[in-house]
Amino acid sequence: MSQAAVIDGKAFAAGLRGRVAVAAAAFEAKAGRKAGLAVVLVGEDPASQVYVRNKGKQTIEAGMASFEHKLPADTAQADLIALVERLNADPAVDGILVQLPLPGHLDEQAVVERISPNKDVDGLTPTSTGRLALGLPGLVPCTPLGCLMLLKDRLGDLSGLDAVVIGRSILVGKPMAQLLLAESCTVTIAHSRTKNLPDVVRRADIVVAAVGRPEMVKADWLKPGATVIDVGINRVPAAEAGKTRLIGDVDYAGASAVAGAITPVPGGVGPMTIAVLLRNTLVAAHRNAGVALEGDAL
Ligand code: NDP
Repeated sequence: MSQAAVIDGKAFAAGLRGRVAVAAAAFEAKAGRKAGLAVVLVGEDPASQVYVRNKGKQTIEAGMASFEHKLPADTAQADLIALVERLNADPAVDGILVQLPLPGHLDEQAVVERISPNKDVDGLTPTSTGRLALGLPGLVPCTPLGCLMLLKDRLGDLSGLDAVVIGRSILVGKPMAQLLLAESCTVTIAHSRTKNLPDVVRRADIVVAAVGRPEMVKADWLKPGATVIDVGINRVPAAEAGKTRLIGDVDYAGASAVAGAITPVPGGVGPMTIAVLLRNTLVAAHRNAGVALEGDAL
């Protein structure tokens, strides 16, 4: 049996970052300022600290301005909202990302809702979510948009394909389904209450797994030749004592013998998220500065 093609998200993300860097330089020449991304981190969650550091580093590497705001874990809701409002009003800031999850005493939804939709590079405000559902242009959550880019790069026209999205989170599953619907796929959203999940998945030309359960999707759930996008990031013990490794929501080894193409974990969807964040920031910058974004390269 032939092996599935490996969808190399790492290489695609590097290419996208390169195109963003070229467009960021052109933006700076036209607007007389750099595009800017502000990232707000509350508390000291180690994983969030790593994400925020990587976002800042890659923002600067792309020729954009990075503004990091680190607040103590006991920051009051009113103070966090006041910072968001200052960033909304700051003309040097095109994108605002509040790193989630926030500490338990803070109301995430209330904070996200205060981000100006013009600067909502995470695509999580009700305005962005509503515009996506209405099929209007707007800022779209980074991970599902990255998945769509990989799918279109691999398959070209998606119209008429059967797509199954496993997971219905605000961050991944729901916007992913909307994006596939906008590409004229026939979309099924599966979740923890779905009956006969393997049978549902077996219908799909495109499977997007965004569940958070290690290797849940098995080879015999897949239609031969299906394109499989594995969003899952699960840390499990490695063979070497005391070490861990990352695996996806799909049984990669088994699925590779059935699928037509598949994203690996790591090196598939993961690297796309920050690359798309930079892309979203640049798109927002053009809109905020009233500068036309030339070409369709992003
Ligand atoms: P959530 O926990 O918010 O959502 C998980 C979804 O999976 C829910 O809709 C849930 O259903 C569904 N689910 C849970 N168990 C089952 C099951 N047994 N059968 C079918 N569906 C099930 O997770 P996220 O969407 O935020 O993330 C999903 C995965 O993607 C995680 O591994 C996360 O780490 C990863 N991720 C990766 C990113 C990247 O950059 N590559 C970015 C974001 C996330 P229900 O709604 O019924 O509870």
